[in-house]
Amino acid sequence: MAEFTSAERLNSKSLKTLEDLEKKILSYHPTADLKVVAKAFHFSESAHDGQIRRSGEPYISHPLSVAGILADLRLDLDSIVTGLLHDTVEDTHASIEDIKREFGDTVSHLVDGVTKISKMNFKTSTERQGENIRKMIVAMGKDVRVILVKLADRLHNMRTLHHMPYEKQSRIAQETLEIYCPLAGRMGISSLKIELEDLSFRYLRPDMYYQLVQKVESEEKDQKHYIDQVIGEIKSELQKNDFKDIDVQGRSKHLWSIYRKMATRNIDYEQVYDVLAFRVLVDSVSQCYEVLGLVHSLWKPIPGRFKDFIAMPKTNHYQSLHTTVFGPGGERIEIQIRTKEMHLIAERGIAAHWRYKERGKVSDDTSKQFEWLKDLVTLHQQTGNSDEFLDTVKTDLFESEIYVFTPKGDVREFPEGATPIDFAYSVHTDVGNKCVGARINGKMVPLKYRLQNGDTIEIVTAKTQSPSKDWLKFCVTNRAKSKIRAYVKEEQHKRSLIMGKELVDREFRKFGAAAVRYLKGEEYEKLLKDYGIHDGEELFVRVGYGKVEPRHLVERLAPDLLHQPKENPAAKEDPSFMQKVLKAAAQKIKKSGSLITVSGMDDVLVHYAKCCHPIPGDSIVGFITRGRGITVHRSDCRKAFEFDQIRRVDVDWTSKTASDGQERIVRIQVVSQDIPGLLKSMSEAFASQGININNASVRSTKDKKAICVFDAGVKNTTQLTQVIHELQKIKGVIGVTRVAQS
Ligand code: MN
Repeated sequence: MAEFTSAERLNSKSLKTLEDLEKKILSYHPTADLKVVAKAFHFSESAHDGQIRRSGEPYISHPLSVAGILADLRLDLDSIVTGLLHDTVEDTHASIEDIKREFGDTVSHLVDGVTKISKMNFKTSTERQGENIRKMIVAMGKDVRVILVKLADRLHNMRTLHHMPYEKQSRIAQETLEIYCPLAGRMGISSLKIELEDLSFRYLRPDMYYQLVQKVESEEKDQKHYIDQVIGEIKSELQKNDFKDIDVQGRSKHLWSIYRKMATRNIDYEQVYDVLAFRVLVDSVSQCYEVLGLVHSLWKPIPGRFKDFIAMPKTNHYQSLHTTVFGPGGERIEIQIRTKEMHLIAERGIAAHWRYKERGKVSDDTSKQFEWLKDLVTLHQQTGNSDEFLDTVKTDLFESEIYVFTPKGDVREFPEGATPIDFAYSVHTDVGNKCVGARINGKMVPLKYRLQNGDTIEIVTAKTQSPSKDWLKFCVTNRAKSKIRAYVKEEQHKRSLIMGKELVDREFRKFGAAAVRYLKGEEYEKLLKDYGIHDGEELFVRVGYGKVEPRHLVERLAPDLLHQPKENPAAKEDPSFMQKVLKAAAQKIKKSGSLITVSGMDDVLVHYAKCCHPIPGDSIVGFITRGRGITVHRSDCRKAFEFDQIRRVDVDWTSKTASDGQERIVRIQVVSQDIPGLLKSMSEAFASQGININNASVRSTKDKKAICVFDAGVKNTTQLTQVIHELQKIKGVIGVTRVAQS
């Protein structure tokens, strides 16, 4: 998009007095209540009392000028008051509480936002960092006016940059070009963007800047004549066609955009075409297209240069028609055609939506502040031209991203809800695995802490730490999740290996033999091949997981041992019986589809503990049981705590569970007052939920209570919860609990 020269910048005369500011506000807001503006001015003036700008002026000149820039953008009074107060919390003894007390919630939020951004120490080493910082500023801004005040603050600092020491000038100019110019562009405020770009250019490439200034000035006379000629021809053509009150303007483009063209195409100033840009402002969209037709009848358009940003607005809501034509004398000139409303958006962007409106105050309903941007999302979804837009603006402005600082000051981007674990794994897998907590802005926080925008985070590690499956519940990045899963899987693999080895050793020992003697040789290799296993380690793991019976190894590798009377008679398990059980269990699983997933393992033999009778929906835990695969207990089962914890594996119900429909027996105890007829109501409660009672017992206590115990077949915890709820509703019932069987 062609941008107009900085000569057209905001009215940049710096303000000297409060009266200047008040006059400026009254020019677009004649009924403004200026009391609060005066109050903010005096508050700021006394807070900054004694502070001097590098220019030698009292400090108040800076906030006053910032407020003036915001008034040039025709913003509401809250923004202007914030402009006056924006440095008080950062640089003076005034606190945010003082601001809140004196100026209310809205202004204190705005000042707080600006202060937070000012406190950041940006390092713009890479383009990516620049993009992240821009995103962070937007995310922290929450209220768009925070960013507008920050931009106005930067603009005034750039206008007075010549007072700064030389070394600081180029650093600040670089930061402005990398962070604030694109931000102004993103917000669609081309007036701010253009001035910031030209000011940055001046300090970053003073040689090129002053050369260009000279060239533009030397051609000004010729250009002026040419510009008048083009404007005249357009106007008379439009008048012939009954257009009235048409605004036609012509300018040289701004220096930075000319320089960029020269640099990217590696050409001289003389070779830059369309240095001149014209625009025609009309009243309606249909007039835009009419004018386009008339312009094309005057001068031949250059093919491929026509752009219709009215039908396809830019991501920052910019709308206009652009065409480049061979103008008088064959010069290439760009002509922009748009309505006056579109022009206001083009110049002021998002600021246009915060401008004071003549009738009715600007709505301060915070929920409405992003409506304009939400419209944009819809618009771009409709036009289908949304990729880039949705990637940037949507995530930027709807706060789904969090930006935090590393201890070195780099900015890292995370999805909302990210925790120190996500951060730790983004640094290094080892840091993640050993993470025990984090220091946020110097304070210790737990692993579950949710990162906030602008946090500085430092990970605390401990050698003894290791990842747990629970971490998966509160980390959000895929990287962290996959690293944790990999670790857990690896751990289980190790456990199974130990288990498997132990089981195989014991099995051989029952026959008074050492396993090592048999785990080699031709038959052993053949066995591995039959199982499709590559090494002995894998064999042990399979035994550990319960996929291979240790007895089977004896049968294959040492059949002679089976016929020796040496078998330990104390071994109670009857091998043929065990095998029958295993086979039956395996078939059952095949039929129903596994109800249980075991992390890191597929196709594992599973059965349910008789002590606690877990049902789908219960929180569960698995234990590798010798030769019997995995036994699933409820995670609060007392017996489960007595097992060797090295056998523990993580298990979970699968989605198949819901449609399983198989009934499992649970025991429910109901304590009630001993009133006749209650038992009937209770059995009705079961029936109402379609639950069969397999067994029931009743006894009464000395204090006239009845204790009923039901064994009922339920499908899952949902059904169980429902029936418990029904039972509790019965009058006279004191308590309903699920109890352990046996
Ligand atoms: Mn400032």
